[in-house]
Amino acid sequence: MADAKADIGVIGMGTMGANLALNIAEKGFKVAVQNRTAEKAFAVKDDNPELADNIFPAESLEDFVKSLKTPRVAIFMVPAGKPVDDEMEKIRPLLEEGDVMVDAGNADFNDTVRRSQAVEGTGLKFIGMGVSGGELGARHGPSIMVGGAKDSYPLIEPVLTKIAAKYKDEPCVAWLGPDGAGHFVKTIHNGIEYADMQMIAEIYGIMRDGLKLEPSKMAEIFRDWNTRELASYLIEITAVNLDEIDPKTDKPMVEVIVDEAGQKGTGRWAVIEAEKLGVGATTLEAAVAARGLSSRRAERADAAKLYDKVEAGQPQFFADEPGLSELESALVTAKIIAYAQGYAAMAAASDENSWNLPLGTIAEIWRAGCIIRSHFLDDIAKAYDKGHTVVNILQSPDFVGRVAKGQSALRRVVAKASLAGIPVPALSAALAYFDDYRRERGTANLIQAQRDLFGAHTFHRFDTDGAVHHKWPAV
Ligand code: NAP
Repeated sequence: MADAKADIGVIGMGTMGANLALNIAEKGFKVAVQNRTAEKAFAVKDDNPELADNIFPAESLEDFVKSLKTPRVAIFMVPAGKPVDDEMEKIRPLLEEGDVMVDAGNADFNDTVRRSQAVEGTGLKFIGMGVSGGELGARHGPSIMVGGAKDSYPLIEPVLTKIAAKYKDEPCVAWLGPDGAGHFVKTIHNGIEYADMQMIAEIYGIMRDGLKLEPSKMAEIFRDWNTRELASYLIEITAVNLDEIDPKTDKPMVEVIVDEAGQKGTGRWAVIEAEKLGVGATTLEAAVAARGLSSRRAERADAAKLYDKVEAGQPQFFADEPGLSELESALVTAKIIAYAQGYAAMAAASDENSWNLPLGTIAEIWRAGCIIRSHFLDDIAKAYDKGHTVVNILQSPDFVGRVAKGQSALRRVVAKASLAGIPVPALSAALAYFDDYRRERGTANLIQAQRDLFGAHTFHRFDTDGAVHHKWPAV
């Protein structure tokens, strides 16, 4: 089969690239693979003899390109940023009109817009594609958010449809809009993921410091919650995390893990982009900030000593049925608010960039494969599927009742945690956002007065059209 050509190629045989290539090969496509360190590409074939017939490792980029069917599709799965630009630079002279470059890494969508513009008029095509689900997702079915050259999407759609995760037989992949649309949606996905994880961690904090529960008991509670509204991958893995015992010490694994959270930047990008769009995604911000503070462990230890005399109240949390239901309901409600913020950022970005993002479809392709997968996303998909405009998830008839019902639990949990000195930054951000969002008469009138006094920035009056300036007393 020396003349056989590959259907598609993957450059970068790291964790994600190798697993994506194996997924493609397993679904019956022939996949060319290439890596900066060539041995890794050959190892992917050698280590997977059952799929070897479908894997075409290449020694060089030239061999890689020659082994692809035309029009060629080359997927980059290398670290975001310069490595993508470098690989594009190297492969471009080897490609021909109609060939497609696909960046499947976690790119900053601004880079994807720039790269899309750079290939315009060259005959080459560029697709920016977010892939979620980590290593296992890449291998067995990720959620795939595609943006960029729509006319080239049919070239990769058959492969993506086969390799994507399935939610009730529906593939979790879609073309979402031009240039940076796919990577923007992936960025917001990651921002929501940060908020979701942080809020779960805050509830864990209440269980540990307020209820004094053992991790195995917490695991039981999370497993129970996983049978209802909160049912999701993140709740499921949290129960697994809490149940695990460290083989070295026989202690619960979570107790031997240092409380410093890592981050690769996508959550921060989501927050920055939301702010740029004037849509403060405050639960996402709280989550990013909490990870930042978590990594200043020595500084926190010093502060703990400085404030060790500060008395917080006694925790008023109870591990009985009403107490646990209250925590569950608070988490559900805060989660709805966090998703509403992520969706508001996507809606604003869609307007700003004229992407026409299909928000309902996004919820659909997040229902399986990705880290935030859950049945709850099916509820969001349904809310967008009713043919009426959803201004904000918090105004969707499907969610108004749920939030109105759950807000009192969220309020009580945030209040009790604050009184007991247990930090719940994302849960309280959700509550504050909700209260601010539903308040008709806000307090920005005072800010406008201040701005007008010190900077003559003008303001609007209820009884006059147009901006006016007031002559304030000199200060
Ligand atoms: P990884 O395991 O670190 O692998 C990176 C690969 O890129 C390696 O094959 C490496 O080649 C190659 N590479 C590194 N620098 C390069 C350069 N300057 N030029 C050319 N090739 C270079 O990374 P990964 O986890 O697979 O991540 C790949 C992309 O997927 C990233 O954008 C990441 O953010 C995204 N992503 C990752 C996950 C995840 O769970 N890991 C999930 C979703 C998305 P060598 O073997 O020669 O070093």
